[in-house]
Amino acid sequence: MSFDLVVFGGTGDLAWRKLIPALFQANRHGQLPAGGRLLALARDERSDDEYRAYIRERFAGVDADKRPSDEEFARFAQLLHYRRMDVTQPEHFAGVKRWIEEPRAEEGRSGGRAETVVFFMATSPQLFPVICEQLGRAGLNGPQVRVVLEKPLGHDLASAQEINRVVRSAFREEQALRIDHYLGKAAVQNLMALRFGNALFEPLWRRESIANIQITLAEGIGVGKRGDFYDQTGALRDMVQNHALQLLTMIAMEPPSSNDADAIRDEKLKVLRSLKPFTPESVARDVVRGQYRAGTVEGQAVPGYLEELKVPAASACETFVALRTEVQNWRWAGVPFYLRTGKRLGARDAQIVVNFRPVPHAIFPGSGQANRLVIKLQPEDGLELNLLAKRGGSCSELLSPVSLDLDFDKAFASQRVGGYERLLLDAIAGRLNLFVRSDEQEQAWRWVEPVLRAWASDPAGPRPYAAGSWGPAAASALVARDGFAWAEEQ
Ligand code: NAP
Repeated sequence: MSFDLVVFGGTGDLAWRKLIPALFQANRHGQLPAGGRLLALARDERSDDEYRAYIRERFAGVDADKRPSDEEFARFAQLLHYRRMDVTQPEHFAGVKRWIEEPRAEEGRSGGRAETVVFFMATSPQLFPVICEQLGRAGLNGPQVRVVLEKPLGHDLASAQEINRVVRSAFREEQALRIDHYLGKAAVQNLMALRFGNALFEPLWRRESIANIQITLAEGIGVGKRGDFYDQTGALRDMVQNHALQLLTMIAMEPPSSNDADAIRDEKLKVLRSLKPFTPESVARDVVRGQYRAGTVEGQAVPGYLEELKVPAASACETFVALRTEVQNWRWAGVPFYLRTGKRLGARDAQIVVNFRPVPHAIFPGSGQANRLVIKLQPEDGLELNLLAKRGGSCSELLSPVSLDLDFDKAFASQRVGGYERLLLDAIAGRLNLFVRSDEQEQAWRWVEPVLRAWASDPAGPRPYAAGSWGPAAASALVARDGFAWAEEQ
């Protein structure tokens, strides 16, 4: 399927750090459909060759295994094109249209035009409305067109609804692809495969066998140079409303009737609607917000949040959130779901831990321990199942955990596809399973809003935690209250 990938903001950080490397890897792996082109758009004046040289230069700084050889880059560069345009100038859209509609027989396209056109919004979200509107006006919204939107999609429910309204005025729902890059991760897709492709797990995937579920999205980094942006956002909006909740839906959803995108998204939406709503009292009890102070991360002394560049001196912005919730349905009644995310934590570590219940009657010492399934998302993708076994060769009756490790990188090394690469290929092919539907996104906002409201009227502000720790002590107490512990404390 020939395609045109048109990138608004083709010279920006997102385009460079995520999109172009993913496109290059897809090309390198022979995954890109034939007859593809990328058109980068921004306000600078550059020729195609200057843009290619700019990209070539940037590749010089990436890890050797991700860097193209001269031949690989020469092949890749043929896909890259650049046009100057300012999205606030309606007449500039005519130039984009001309470029897309130019017959390009030499690229082996049937009829000259691409079968699919993907517009990728890699520019400030304030520009999304004007871009959508102008694409609609220019007639660049036909059935072969898709538009990809990156976070942040709104600041609260009302602003998210407004973005969706504008997108909907030009595009149908199935043309709008909202990226959540955690959904592109192999381990998340394998979680679906594990649950719905194997008979082994689904009978146990319920309150009778599962004691609690923990989702941790921990970052070692601070806010860097983006203090001003982060201070307007905070961890709840930046990580919980989107990534953590999307992961929760993948864990908790009922089996969909098919692998069809809407069948899956309908089930995810039901989970979001089943989440226990917050009240001011439950926010005080079940949500911990924190802000990092100076500390040590990986042996390096680092400043506190309030000392970071462009952060207001008295900021009450949270850089850490831990919360307890429940999915109120028959499958999950009473099972705590703990979500935790933060900056400047002990390690860059994203994982979902499913803690099973211990056996009902212990005949071995140590049977009080229980099985645990760990879905690792960062730094590596993988699944690890902890079983209990007798220590090899020893006479001891004591059981110890042994792990059954599924290392996707090793097992499927030749077919490995990065998360962003996968999402990009899906966007080109029109596979919507891994993109977030507007109703899911809005429901997630609806659920976090009471927390934002409660915090806004609570003068106590976030609890301090030392950089390099696992957040405020209250986060451990939140889990300990139910008789459990976070994975690293077990
Ligand atoms: P950025 O580095 O500031 O890049 C913005 C791009 O938009 C530049 O290419 C800029 O080029 C172009 N641009 C700005 N105004 C324009 C206009 N009027 N007409 C045409 N082009 C214009 O921003 P970014 O970090 O890539 O972020 C882009 C979006 O992705 C944001 O929504 C951000 O929140 C989101 N995002 C970014 C990341 C990331 O890792 N960076 C991760 C997740 C989500 P000119 O100034 O030359 O026109």
